[in-house]
Amino acid sequence: MSKDKQFVTEITPQGEDFSRWYIDVIKKAELMDYSPVRGCIVFRPDGYEIWEHIQAEMDRRFKETGHRNAYFPLLIPESFFQKEKDHIEGFNPELPWVTEAAGEKLEERLAIRPTSETMFGHMYSKWIKSYRDLPVLINQWANVVRWEKRTLPFIRTTEFLWQEGHTAHETEAEAREETMKMLELYRSFLEEYLAIPVITGQKTPSERFAGAVDTFSIEAMMKDGKAVQAGTSHYLGTKFAEAFEIQYLNRENTQEYVHTTSWGTTTRLIGSLIMVHGDDRGLALPPKVAPTQVIMVPIGPPKTREAVVGRTDELFVELKKAGVRVKVDDRSDVSPGWKFNEYEMRGVPVRLEIGPRDMENGVCVLVSRITGEKKIVQQDNLVEEVKVMLEQVHQEMLDRAKQFMSDHFYSVDNLEEMKMRMEESRGFTLAGWCGTVECERKVKEETGATSRNIPLEPSETKETCIVCGEASKHTVVFARAY
Ligand code: AMP
Repeated sequence: MSKDKQFVTEITPQGEDFSRWYIDVIKKAELMDYSPVRGCIVFRPDGYEIWEHIQAEMDRRFKETGHRNAYFPLLIPESFFQKEKDHIEGFNPELPWVTEAAGEKLEERLAIRPTSETMFGHMYSKWIKSYRDLPVLINQWANVVRWEKRTLPFIRTTEFLWQEGHTAHETEAEAREETMKMLELYRSFLEEYLAIPVITGQKTPSERFAGAVDTFSIEAMMKDGKAVQAGTSHYLGTKFAEAFEIQYLNRENTQEYVHTTSWGTTTRLIGSLIMVHGDDRGLALPPKVAPTQVIMVPIGPPKTREAVVGRTDELFVELKKAGVRVKVDDRSDVSPGWKFNEYEMRGVPVRLEIGPRDMENGVCVLVSRITGEKKIVQQDNLVEEVKVMLEQVHQEMLDRAKQFMSDHFYSVDNLEEMKMRMEESRGFTLAGWCGTVECERKVKEETGATSRNIPLEPSETKETCIVCGEASKHTVVFARAY
């Protein structure tokens, strides 16, 4: 085995075993490691930095749409959960409890938050008195814990990092508008920042958030054809307002319940972008969240080394000043080929090579992680050229992901066809559904696919239910999911 090939051969090919590929890549690229507690992971610096870039841009967009951040406590009294019956029913199996502290049994058990609707509800009832106090638009960045039975790094962990928005409004119309606004914010963020196309739609009642009136989601397609629910936005009606007595004096001077929403995205986004863009060479990171956007590799024989490295450092400073996240790898004990493989595996979007001949000609070479395309550019114009290539890499990733999704999206008319698509073609299927739980369950039993969502903009409308053949109520996307 050649030394340069080693990085690639240590990664299981996607076609052989996609799950193994995923674990190989995230471990080898040092994004995470397992913790001693089942289902919990350590976010290593490169993994955590992806999250920091996601956070920074999302936070900017939340603020731009009028939201502010706050921080609410980790521990929630048990009595809070008892107030909204659907909420406790849904979350009870996943709750970890603190029952004892400082050697004493607590009078009331405290849950480690799985989500904070109850705590926000409690506080909002104190803060909201009149229509003048509305709307309340708060987001929090925090960690939550859900005792999951099945776990997978980033995608489904016991403890995860997220943002949860909680808003309160005068009217149903306004709260619903907020619900859809945040769904659209998620959709555009995933496209523009992570190069991930998604299907936006409404969840069926069986997949709804515990305590919501309506749940909407964005669903992304991984390279093995499976779905990931990448974010959710809920219209909660007055359910939490009634449970927590969040009432306000309306414009006619009468007491009314507020309408609330909540919405969240998590470190699952890291797993999603890996499974959407990665390939047999390793990670492929969208430029806007890549910890290193450009890796500079000086090349050439020892006698020119000093001069080349010197020029590389000057160009490094220029790029850095221009806000590009750039690194130089000038190790002399490792071959350029080895370095190329290493940074491809780590998903660095652009590689910059510079050798003695390039020095003479005042040029250098930029290489795209996605297409492998090499571009000779003038050193004088480097910052501009790098920015253009980073943008091109983003666009290419998005185009490819869109193409993949449309190539693996099937309209189906009976269960055999759906099953065949699930097993052979892998991907999403579009089918009619009569609206009954029985037929939804039957789809799962027969094909392994669950309803992902009822798309807001379906590519076609299905007239009959895929299971019972009765008139369909909804056109639904079904897929196997993480
Ligand atoms: P929810 O509050 O249940 O609507 O969850 C919000 C979002 O969190 C979901 O849409 C998922 O994308 C994500 N999510 C749910 N459970 C987990 C988990 N165990 N690990 C990571 N992300 C999760």
